Amino acid sequence: MKHHPRHSRAGGNPQSATTWIPACAGMTGKGWAVLRVLFLKGLRPTLAAGLMGVTASGVAAAEPRWTYRGELGAAHWADLKREWAVCRQGRRQSPIDIVASQPGPAAPLQFSYRPAPLRIVNDGHTVRVRFANGSKLQLGSGEVLTLQQFHFHTPGGDKLRGEEFPMGMHFLHKGSSGRLVSLVLLFRQGAENPALQALLPHMPAAGMAEQTLAQVQLNPAQWLPANKAYYRYEGSLTAPPCTEGVLWLVMKQPLEVSAAQLAALHRLFPDNARPTQALHGREVLESP
Ligand SMILES: [Zn+2]
Repeated sequence: MKHHPRHSRAGGNPQSATTWIPACAGMTGKGWAVLRVLFLKGLRPTLAAGLMGVTASGVAAAEPRWTYRGELGAAHWADLKREWAVCRQGRRQSPIDIVASQPGPAAPLQFSYRPAPLRIVNDGHTVRVRFANGSKLQLGSGEVLTLQQFHFHTPGGDKLRGEEFPMGMHFLHKGSSGRLVSLVLLFRQGAENPALQALLPHMPAAGMAEQTLAQVQLNPAQWLPANKAYYRYEGSLTAPPCTEGVLWLVMKQPLEVSAAQLAALHRLFPDNARPTQALHGREVLESP
């Protein structure tokens, strides 16, 4: 595997190892457990972080392979592993089609996102950018969560009144109690997106180890729409193990992405959106 000289493997930052979480398409809870064992065995955090790639790939081999389409696709995830039964039996699954909503939280979201050196990986399911720089999201309730990573979906996943978007981004946050909050940006095809244009040249091919590009500063705030109004619902991870208890915040204002940018993403990973799931009586709340 070739590495560009200016790329370096992630590692050396103990914080980076403590902030990894299972994601829509990311390292599983089991991988996390393996990492914790490494710590318990007395490995220095820097060494454990350096082993992360080995650990993650080793665990990936032990997990059933899954895809979005075909025999290992979304309709069959529940059959691939006992612990993934919730992918079919769960009643609070994501994504959804947001058709109706009730007036909800009045206090706006408060973003305290900060720039960080780019940490990026392509796991074959998506391209993911990781953060360990204390970027915060505060909910109307006052609860504060820390940004862990964002990643891409094509098409977008959640729909608005039946409209499917060609691209979505999930910004995953974690609270001090371990609660996950996924903030969704949806994109229509249109103008070139400047933030994505700046990131595309640095997106790695599938299978490369996570890279940290110290000279590339990425500001997560640059991706957000001007209008911060949002929908809110209780959902799940959108890939195995489909764990529920994830709060979803879907920004109402779609952004734009160009046809060429969508084509560039399709060259890096296949279509990776789970179909929308039944509401099972859930209410969607709507901010002003
Ligand atoms: Zn996702």
